[in-house]
Amino acid sequence: MSDFIQHDVVIIGGGGAGLRAAISLAESGLSIALVSKVYPMRSHTVAAEGGAAAVIKPNDSLEDHIYDTISGADWLADQDAVEYFVNEAPKEMTRLEHWGCPWSREPQGKVAVRPFGGMKIERTWFAADKTGFHMLHSLFQNTLRYPQLKRYDEHFATKLLVDNGRCCGCVAVELKTGKVKTIAGKAVIMATGGAGKIFPFTTNGAIKTGDGMSLAYRAGVPLKDMEFVQYHPTGLPGTGILITEASRGEGGILVNNEGYRYLQDYDLGKPQPVDSPAHPVKRTMELGPRDRLSQAFYWEREKGRTIKLPAWNNIDVVMLDLRHLGEAKIDKKIPFVRELSKNYVGIDPVTDMIPVRPVIHYMMGGIDTDINAATTLPGLYAAGECACVSINGANRLGSNSLTELLVFGGKAGDNAAEFAKSAKDLNVAALTQQGNEEEARVKALMNDDGTESIADIRTAMQSSMEDGAGIYRTESSMKATAEVIAEQKERYKKVQVKDHSGAYNTQLQYAFELGCMLDVAEALVHSANARTESRGAHQRLEYKERDDDKFLAHSMAHFNADGGAPKIDYKDVVITKWPPGARTYGKDSGLKRK
Ligand SMILES: Cc1cc2nc3c(=O)[nH]c(=O)nc-3n(C[C@H](O)[C@H](O)[C@H](O)COP(=O)(O)OP(=O)(O)OC[C@H]3O[C@@H](n4cnc5c(N)ncnc54)[C@H](O)[C@@H]3O)c2cc1C
Repeated sequence: MSDFIQHDVVIIGGGGAGLRAAISLAESGLSIALVSKVYPMRSHTVAAEGGAAAVIKPNDSLEDHIYDTISGADWLADQDAVEYFVNEAPKEMTRLEHWGCPWSREPQGKVAVRPFGGMKIERTWFAADKTGFHMLHSLFQNTLRYPQLKRYDEHFATKLLVDNGRCCGCVAVELKTGKVKTIAGKAVIMATGGAGKIFPFTTNGAIKTGDGMSLAYRAGVPLKDMEFVQYHPTGLPGTGILITEASRGEGGILVNNEGYRYLQDYDLGKPQPVDSPAHPVKRTMELGPRDRLSQAFYWEREKGRTIKLPAWNNIDVVMLDLRHLGEAKIDKKIPFVRELSKNYVGIDPVTDMIPVRPVIHYMMGGIDTDINAATTLPGLYAAGECACVSINGANRLGSNSLTELLVFGGKAGDNAAEFAKSAKDLNVAALTQQGNEEEARVKALMNDDGTESIADIRTAMQSSMEDGAGIYRTESSMKATAEVIAEQKERYKKVQVKDHSGAYNTQLQYAFELGCMLDVAEALVHSANARTESRGAHQRLEYKERDDDKFLAHSMAHFNADGGAPKIDYKDVVITKWPPGARTYGKDSGLKRK
């Protein structure tokens, strides 16, 4: 029988969003379970390099941050959520400073900000190029102050408990022992991060397998805007390790095989000479939004203007040139970029250009939530990369995501606390039974009848996602991918878990993760195929234009419990003051309001 444990609120995920929610909840005095499949400091937030956006300088304005976010999102963001986010952002960032986050400073001692892609003014706070590490550390240390917060580190959540139309906790496997635990609570916050691992080439850590998205989807909560997946324009060949946008924010430039700054050909503005005073404080070119830069790479490759690297199977790259910044600036502002380039491609950016190419980085879509971080399932909240509020719409601006963890993590904590305080008592017998059933399912997965290899199914899924749901998409490629995913879901029913041991059964964990990734991949490719337009990160070769008449709407993928394709329908985008306009970066890009 599975162990039964009860708290007021259960948080699944110990990254930035989960920890921020935990602090809000702890301040309300409730008892909290913090369930995380890794030790919290190993969550992906720790890998964030570049920074977090919030208006703080007198030359900036909240309205400009709102407009940059909405236009960057190609008008698919909910504008009420963006307004709330931008207004709360400076307060959250200052609070994090009070909690100990060592923001980099100007010589006079004020918080420093750097330029970032798609932000038309410098507003990205940073802690050198280890921002995520410092943010996560500050949050984690603060959670240690609260005795009412009980951590379940290295516990893998496999299922949400739902009773009487309400979310009441989760079932989790303790990885150290293999013990199955039923962890009940009157409210649940999902903060499980993204799902980049459904693709083969990604900046995402191995643990980013979309588990929480899948758990919510299976429990009947729609996944919103899943077709919008962000490529980051500068990943290292081979590993996919990220070279942060801060390297371009500090003045780095991108050149093709002719040494030409090709971005000037893509409506992203004109180049400033690298030694002019206007450089690197430029709002365009290399600091255009990520979707546009990744698309420009695609066309450069089509024109034969990329460079093929024999050492990596002739993979295509362009070059990121930082040499003009000089050693002192590189070491002070982006030391990690130098370290990563030396360690992973054997190149010192002080003397040589870094080979880079677009790499899967971030999921704009996720669990459908409203502006209160609430889902359609009473008692279930979601925040961070697993959620879609949506402030990111069709394309997230770099450095909005770390701030989003704080703003909506805090909001999820506050609202889950309210909900838990007034919620009815839990039906312990019903939840215990669900826990026992899940334990039986987990045991059944470790049987001797499985014939299908986890690695084979995963490889088939990943390569078909790259083929069908990459930078540019076509109907035939997406249909082929949808078929491959459906086949892999069939194969998964006979997945083989040869290891039957309890302690750190990584094979079992990979099997859980694969099941979740297949759900996310399915929702993504079906949502993509249904959207017959090009918007932000979703670009179709046969439908080149944005179609606001039909698709100024969030796509909602609903899980099909019978095993077939998900049902896709649409929900209106909230427009407050900013009607859809042209997304220009090169020419006039001023505010246009209703
Ligand atoms: C390399 C890199 C650099 C980035 N740089 C920036 C940047 O400079 N600025 C910016 O704004 N954004 C950046 N991003 C994006 C941003 O860092 C992430 O979107 C954000 O940190 C996600 O935080 P999160 O709290 O939602 O999830 P994560 O930090 O990914 O945490 C997820 C948590 O969920 C837990 N979990 C997952 N599944 C389960 C399960 N089944 N059971 C139990 N627990 C589970 C994990 O253990 C983990 O604790 C970057 C992303 C990457 C990959």
